[in-house]
Amino acid sequence: MHKIIIVGGGLAGSLTAVYLAQRGHEVHVVEKRGDPLLVDSANADPVNSRAIGVSMTVRGIKAVLAAGISRQELEQCGEPVIGMAFSVGGQHKVRELTPLEGMFPLSLDRTAFQRLLNKYAVIHKVQYHFEHKCLDVDLEGKSVLIQGPDGALQHLQGDLIIGADGAHSAVRRAMQSGMRRFEFKQTFFRHGYKTLVLPNASELGFRKDLLYFFGMDSKGLFAGRAATIPNGSISFAICLPYSGETSLNTKNREAMAEFFSRYFGILPAASRQELLEQFFTLPSNDLINVRSSTFHYKGNVLLIGDAAHATAPFLGQGMNMALEDVYVLITLLEQHGDAFGLALSEFTHQRKVQADAMQDMAIANYEALSNPNLIFFLQTRYTRYMHKKFPRVYPPDMAEKLYFTSVPYDELQQIQKKQNVWYKLGRVN
Ligand SMILES: Cc1cc2nc3c(=O)[nH]c(=O)nc-3n(C[C@H](O)[C@H](O)[C@H](O)COP(=O)(O)OP(=O)(O)OC[C@H]3O[C@@H](n4cnc5c(N)ncnc54)[C@H](O)[C@@H]3O)c2cc1C
Repeated sequence: MHKIIIVGGGLAGSLTAVYLAQRGHEVHVVEKRGDPLLVDSANADPVNSRAIGVSMTVRGIKAVLAAGISRQELEQCGEPVIGMAFSVGGQHKVRELTPLEGMFPLSLDRTAFQRLLNKYAVIHKVQYHFEHKCLDVDLEGKSVLIQGPDGALQHLQGDLIIGADGAHSAVRRAMQSGMRRFEFKQTFFRHGYKTLVLPNASELGFRKDLLYFFGMDSKGLFAGRAATIPNGSISFAICLPYSGETSLNTKNREAMAEFFSRYFGILPAASRQELLEQFFTLPSNDLINVRSSTFHYKGNVLLIGDAAHATAPFLGQGMNMALEDVYVLITLLEQHGDAFGLALSEFTHQRKVQADAMQDMAIANYEALSNPNLIFFLQTRYTRYMHKKFPRVYPPDMAEKLYFTSVPYDELQQIQKKQNVWYKLGRVN
């Protein structure tokens, strides 16, 4: 049995805690926010959460179920999704997808899922240090310096430190300053986002089983995604640039009213007005891409999830990859026993290539969504037609594989590249 300290009790951190505590380790989680199981906790406040609805694809579902979390309870946190709807000219073009492993992705209520993980962590006696912030990590000494709500400082020392503290990770910062040859690159997307919510999704005509995409006809001005969650509401992530009349920082209500009328014309005027009010009240958030040259320091410290490889949500894979990271880590720890050094270096070896592929695909999707044209839709149709007709030579629809399987990201990227080559050849011919 080892003492393991996890920094960050979000989705990746809490799932890791469940797995490790189940295996008999003494697990401590340092989380700067409050306890999500307490109703009045800051963590339970959906307005402050970054994305109220997140889609969990088959790879995420598998990682969660393998931790012994009940499928029924997981499904209660979300709605099964069977396809995507792209809004063009005020109409939705629906693209249904076919499940490949008998599992549907879920459109999840993020808060409900976080609570489910915390419930299981409590069952397995994980020790949470809520409202404690990690300030620094001693990489050699395997200890973290944390600060409680009263400002008091303390050191927590363990056999292994896991940094699951998200895109602005304090653990990664310590690695940056304390490791030789640690390379790090942080880039911001041209767009940031606000999350807006409307109650009564079905009354507004939204299907529970579709993910909605907006902005395909905005010539790159904006991209938006919306998903319904089990409480009946629909949450919109509206991604816009930071400057201009129609932007996250605009003060021009008329321009934004025109924006909502133009791109959300399917909504009744009262709902558009509500979106407008929320838009001018709620804060905006950045979209960031983070790449690190390694995810570990000796057998002492490891980064997982967004702390290792945050990216923009245009592929909907950040959480899914984070959850899969956890599954891979646990498998490696079981394979290598006490040899943490071997397990962690193998983790970097296996996951770095997957993270790079996932981020490249997310960025490519961002480009496609923020600079789309009709060819996007034709290409998708063409791909599916050709794969049906020539299944041996023509690669399958990448989106179906992404949503309905846990095929490694680097293989999916190869499929995407092949499709592009075939598609270009098809166009030339
Ligand atoms: C708008 C939007 C939509 C998204 N949609 C999807 C989607 O549909 N599907 C998908 O797979 N992914 C999606 N993502 C990505 C997904 O949200 C992240 O990839 C996922 O949350 C990563 O989980 P994590 O546990 O690694 O990090 P986080 O969820 O960021 O958790 C980190 C935790 O660490 C805590 N913490 C941070 N710093 C410290 C510190 N110094 N001390 C103590 N605690 C600390 C934080 O409070 C937090 O609880 C979306 C992201 C955005 C922004």
